[in-house]
Amino acid sequence: MPMLKQTLLTTFFILFYMMTSTASPILTYHLSMPEPHTHYFEVETKISGLDQETVDLKMAVWTPGSYLVREFARKVEGFEAQTGDSELDFKKINKNTWRIETAGSSEISVKYRVYSFEFSVRTSFLDASHAYINGASVFMFIDGHLDLPSTLHIQPHNNFNTISTALKPVDGDQWVLSVPNYDLLADSPIEIGTHKVVDFEAAKTPHHLALVGEGNYDEELLVSSIQKVVEECTNIFGDLPTDDYTFINFSTDGKYGGLEHLHSTCLMYPRWNYSPRPKLNRWLGLMAHEYFHLWNIKRIRPQVLGPFDYENENYTTLLWVAEGVTSYYDDHLLVRTGLMTEEEYLKVVAGNINSHENRPGKKVQSVTEASFDAWIKYYRSDENFNNCCISYYTKGAVLSTLLDLEILHNTKGKKSMDDVMRYMYDEYYKNQQRGFTDEEFQAAVEKFAGKELDPFFTSHVSGVEPIDYQKYFDYVGLTLENTADADKIALGVNLNSSNKVTAVKRGSCGYESGLNVNDEIIAIDNYRVKSSDNIATLLARKSQGDQVDIMVSRGGEIMHIQTELHPAEHFSYKLSMVEKPSRTQKKLYKAWLKIRNEAKK
Ligand SMILES: [Zn+2]
Repeated sequence: MPMLKQTLLTTFFILFYMMTSTASPILTYHLSMPEPHTHYFEVETKISGLDQETVDLKMAVWTPGSYLVREFARKVEGFEAQTGDSELDFKKINKNTWRIETAGSSEISVKYRVYSFEFSVRTSFLDASHAYINGASVFMFIDGHLDLPSTLHIQPHNNFNTISTALKPVDGDQWVLSVPNYDLLADSPIEIGTHKVVDFEAAKTPHHLALVGEGNYDEELLVSSIQKVVEECTNIFGDLPTDDYTFINFSTDGKYGGLEHLHSTCLMYPRWNYSPRPKLNRWLGLMAHEYFHLWNIKRIRPQVLGPFDYENENYTTLLWVAEGVTSYYDDHLLVRTGLMTEEEYLKVVAGNINSHENRPGKKVQSVTEASFDAWIKYYRSDENFNNCCISYYTKGAVLSTLLDLEILHNTKGKKSMDDVMRYMYDEYYKNQQRGFTDEEFQAAVEKFAGKELDPFFTSHVSGVEPIDYQKYFDYVGLTLENTADADKIALGVNLNSSNKVTAVKRGSCGYESGLNVNDEIIAIDNYRVKSSDNIATLLARKSQGDQVDIMVSRGGEIMHIQTELHPAEHFSYKLSMVEKPSRTQKKLYKAWLKIRNEAKK
C-alpha cells in the first residue's frame, strides 16, 4: 500500500475513534529488546486522555487459532506504573489484570518485561538471532477498549535490520506501526531479525515471503506454488479479501505447524524437508491450509469466534468446519493446481480415512464434541486420547470429502463444496457481516446438494455412526479397499525406544489382558524383547487363541501378564479406480478434482 494511503488510513482510524467514543484514551506501545540473549521483551504502554480513577490493563489468556488457555500473564514480570516522575499504585485483581490508580492524572505509563523463549507459531520468542512476537502474548489491552487504535514503536536490537508483519508502517518508518485495534495487534505476528524477504504478486496483490532460517528450499518453486494456490483460492471465492499478505516462514530443526491470521500467516517447517518432491508436498499442504484460512475462519467464521473473548475459552461446535473443511481443501488445492499428482492425492484421502478409522475414539466422540472440547482434549491430549477422542481436522476433512462427492452426485457435477464455501463467504461475511451457526452451515450444504442431509449430519457430524465410504466413492468410480492383514496378531501397544508402553489401544489383547502405559516389556514367552519390530517377530509364530506370557517391569517390579492373542483391528485403506468406470463416474471424477483438460491424466 502506498505510504500516503497508510497515513490517511491511520489518521482515519484515530479520527473515527475520537468522533465515535467519549473520552477516548490515546494508546502507544513501545517494544524493545536490549538484551535478546536473556529472552526478555521490554514493553512500555503509554495511555493519555484518561478521566477515570482506575485503569485495568489485561493480558490475553489465549491466542486466536490455538484453542488452549496458555496464561500469557505467567511470563510477565517487573510491572510498574508512573505518571511523569511519580510512581502510581497498582494491584493485581486476578491472574491477568493489573488495576492502576491514576491519582487524577490523565496520562500514565506502564512498564513490564515478558520472558519469551517458547519457539512456536502461537507464542513469542527472543534470542540473539531474532525476535518473533505474537501480540496476544506480549501486549496488554485496556479493559473495555479492544477497539482502541494505537501506535507501536519498536526499538530493534543492534543488528536486527528486517521486519516482517502485516501491520502497516507509519510515514514510511518500518519501526513505527499503525495498529487499528487490539484484534489486529493480536492477529499480526511480527518477525524481526536479519532474514531474507521475497516480494511478489499473486492474484494481482502484493505478497511477501519472509524466509527465516536455512533450508533446502528452492525460492522460486515456493513462490510459484504460492501463486498457484492464491489464484485458485481467489477463483473459488470470487475475490481476495486482503490488499497485502505476508508469509513468515521458519525453517526449523524439526518443528512443524502454522497459524492463520487476517493478512498473514506463520509457518514452521523442518529445514531439510523441502525436497525431494514428495517431501515438499507437506510444506505445500501447510501453506495452502493457512492460505485457505484467509477465508475459512478468518472471515467465514463460526458465530462465537469473533469478537473474541481474550480472557476465557470461546466454545464452538464448528471447528470441524473451520479446520476440517480447510484440511480437506489444503490437499485438494494442490491436486487441482497440478502441484500434487492424482495418485498422491488419492493416497492422502485414503490416509485421512485410515487415520480416523484406526482411532477407537471414533465410537466415542462426535466431531462436534471434539470441536467443543478442543480446549481440554485435543490441545491437552494424554496417553488415552486415541481411545476416547478423534481429530476434528481429520474427520472434518473426511466428512468434507463425502459432502463434496454427495453434492457433485446430486447435481450431476454442476455444484460442489466450492459453491457452499463461496456462498458462506458472500452471505455471512459480506452480506450479513456475522458468524454462522451449525444449522446455517448444514442449510448451505443442503442448498447446493439439492437435498435434505439430516441423516448424514445426525449420524456423522453430531453422531458416531459407522460411515459407508464406498457409497460416496462409487459416484466417482473409485474403490476403497482395506489392504490390512485381518489375521495379523498384535498386542495393540505403542512402545518408545526403551520398550516402555506409551499407549494401549482399546479392544486389543494388550488392553484386555491389562498391559499398562509405562510398563516396560522385557520378554514374551521368555524371549527378550528388544523393540516393537522384535515383538512382531516373536508374535508372527503365534495364532489366534494362543496364550503368551508377557514379562514386564511396572514401577521396577517384575510381573507376568498372561495374554490370549487375537488380531488387532487395523485399517489400511487404498483408493483405486474401478476397472471400467462409467461415463458418469468419469465425468464426476473430473468434476471432483477440477480436471480441466484432456491432456492431464
Ligand atoms: Zn488450520
